[in-house]
Amino acid sequence: MIGIYIAGALLLFIAVLLIRAAMFRPRQQDFPECTAPEADSEVALRHLQEFIRCRTVSSRDPALAAPEAEFEKFRNLLKEFYPEIHKISPQERIGPAGILYKIPGKHSDAPCVFMSHYDVVPVDEAAWDKPPFAAEIADGYLWGRGTLDTKTTLLGVMEAAETLLKQGFVPENDLYLAFAGDEEIGGESQPAIVAEMNRRGIVPALVLDEGGAVVEKIFPGVKERCALIGTAEKGSLDLEFSLKGNGGHSSTPKPRTPVTNMARASVRVEEHPFPFRITPPTKEMLDTLGRRSSFALKIVFANLWCFRPLLDLICKKSGGEINALMRTTCAFTMMKGSEAPNVLPPSVSMVANLRLNGGTSIESAMAHIRKVMKNDDVELRVIQGSQPSPYSRTDSPGWKKVCAAIHGTWPEAVISPYLMMAASDSRHYCAISENVYRFSPMEMSSEARKSIHAHNEKVPVEQIDACVSFYLRLIGSC
Ligand SMILES: [Zn+2]
Repeated sequence: MIGIYIAGALLLFIAVLLIRAAMFRPRQQDFPECTAPEADSEVALRHLQEFIRCRTVSSRDPALAAPEAEFEKFRNLLKEFYPEIHKISPQERIGPAGILYKIPGKHSDAPCVFMSHYDVVPVDEAAWDKPPFAAEIADGYLWGRGTLDTKTTLLGVMEAAETLLKQGFVPENDLYLAFAGDEEIGGESQPAIVAEMNRRGIVPALVLDEGGAVVEKIFPGVKERCALIGTAEKGSLDLEFSLKGNGGHSSTPKPRTPVTNMARASVRVEEHPFPFRITPPTKEMLDTLGRRSSFALKIVFANLWCFRPLLDLICKKSGGEINALMRTTCAFTMMKGSEAPNVLPPSVSMVANLRLNGGTSIESAMAHIRKVMKNDDVELRVIQGSQPSPYSRTDSPGWKKVCAAIHGTWPEAVISPYLMMAASDSRHYCAISENVYRFSPMEMSSEARKSIHAHNEKVPVEQIDACVSFYLRLIGSC
């Protein structure tokens, strides 16, 4: 008799899982019509080529950083290429390399900010198949450092605003175009612009910076193209672990050396991952893309109340992107001991890069590490760190405008919030706005994404048009 009850309960349980999975259907994505005027593709391409030819390389290493003249050249190009914008707004310089334009709208209470940066990371020219600053066009691609990160988005903002202004467009709301020349070194330009906006009492209804893109094969079981909009970004922390030893000759060692003690500590950290935590951006992503996944995966995503421990285990075992969405990660990247094979080191050190999930602060991450490391002699030192950003809203008018412009440009793409792993300048704007979004309006293959900060960075020429077209729609609706 008991056996029948157990079998009945089990069947019921399975039925609940299956029904929930079957009902976990995609939500209709309805957005208002968002049209755009035609832009001049040839002019946009020519302008972008000139942008790429400016070697605006930022680096903390003065030997790699470009001279100021390259940055000045870029800023002068803006004045030359966009006379309508400059008729309305001077090129205001804020901070070390910040540029701000203000295009007044009919109202000032819901301003929109379009961000980008015009500096790029250094290149290893020998690794490139085409020169990184010549802006050559080959096989339908424009080659060059900064094509993806992120002179094309800067071009998109400027071309769109110029085109619209030429047609006599007056935006509903004030528009701010805010560009930094020192993003890649975590410079002070965007923080200075934010401080200035704060001083002027500006509370943006929308801030858009680089970030997600239109991508494929990003989520297990989803075949459609997805447009991912970053609604938050993880914090970043470089942490040095160090341990003092007594040095001495290696012929008469103690049972354990500082090297093995440090190794033990690091292994303990790795064996005790940070807690599994689904933050709002990840929850919303699972809820949007999980509904478009295969039926087997829908059983998991529709029933997280019961599969959470299983998902946690899979994430721990697999690591990689899925794991990084769900927890704070800690990757050991550098280690240093003795300089000679037969000398015990007077001190050993390791460095780890942590990416902090929402709900984990720099301080709480360090407390977790101290607890699991079980070695009070290991000293921790913060080399640099930024806290995780707040979560932006996905029900605001600003969010809807971004979605409508994406839908107008890529009608078949599934739009989803996501948690960005990389840090961008946009996080500074969270101090003055709840509506900070990270989206680079371009299709990006996984190969393209890998070329960012590496070699052979290039953008498909037709994606330059798509980018301009997106900004025409978005700026036109602001
Ligand atoms: Zn960038």
